[in-house]
Amino acid sequence: MAVKFGRYRWLGYMIVVLTLVVIGIPALLVRGCSWESREPVKEEGVQVKLQISEEEIISLPLEQYLIGVVAAEMPVSFHEEALKAQAVAARTYCLLRMVREEEDDQHPEAHLCADPGHCQAWISNEEMRKRWGWNYRPNYQKIRSAVLATVGELLTYEGQLIDPVYHSSCGGRGTEDAREVWGHEVPYLKRAVCSYDAPEKQKPVNTQISLQELFTKLKISDQAIPAAGFELIKIQERTESGRVKKVKVGSQVFSGVELRKRLGLRSTDFKVACTKEKVLFSTRGYGHAVGMCQYGANGLAQSGAKYDEILSHYYQGTKLKTIPEK
Ligand SMILES: [Zn+2]
Ligand SMILES: [Zn+2]
Repeated sequence: MAVKFGRYRWLGYMIVVLTLVVIGIPALLVRGCSWESREPVKEEGVQVKLQISEEEIISLPLEQYLIGVVAAEMPVSFHEEALKAQAVAARTYCLLRMVREEEDDQHPEAHLCADPGHCQAWISNEEMRKRWGWNYRPNYQKIRSAVLATVGELLTYEGQLIDPVYHSSCGGRGTEDAREVWGHEVPYLKRAVCSYDAPEKQKPVNTQISLQELFTKLKISDQAIPAAGFELIKIQERTESGRVKKVKVGSQVFSGVELRKRLGLRSTDFKVACTKEKVLFSTRGYGHAVGMCQYGANGLAQSGAKYDEILSHYYQGTKLKTIPEK
């Protein structure tokens, strides 16, 4: 009996092992490869045409596109409420681009491109894998949750979609009025208090450029340079927030925004000093400083603010609306 029972037990083990090999392991593998599509983001509804390179345009569901934008535009280590605020801003920007009537000169066949200098940054799942390595799965899920927690939500001002511009860090100075950067009033892009950026983001960053480089980039001829090198650059006016509004270089006057663009400065919040060979800039913050400050949004979230509070802090007078279900 004992021998017989042992034989059956052996047979039992074999069946279990075979079941695992034939069914279990392939099932685990398939599941492992496709976990991100087990609960797919809604395939129906808004499809975004995205120019991802000069030759390639892809079409993908709006919320799927937004996962790639939030992953590209914000550090994944940020608080989930900041990621949600970013998802709403990115969704609003995307819809704004999709509903406008004229096509874009740079990509007439696509609604948006993945270039942060033109539309907003976007990365593919493959790129996320490369960047995050072993943390790909939890990071992806964190961003996906932030996007899906705000699904369909958009920011409006007086019933219209807003242009939800955002920047990396205001340096703790507070955000800038859109009028100071783009020259026209935008009622929901006014200065907002922001002392929430992480301390290291509030520290000045020093950069230096040679006088020759300065002259080349500003297209200044040597004749325009006064003899006294130390008076070469003079800040003439600052905006109400304290950023550079007008700066005189030699005999030419530039706006702070223009100087930042030509010299590739981190922001218009700078101090400047000259020697006989070079110019030293000490800048605070990163970006144009208008709209949502991303590092500030993270600081606000860490202090307990919810994403809707973060959004109404930086985009004043706006309301959250949801895309109606069809
Ligand atoms: Zn674009
Ligand atoms: Zn800030």
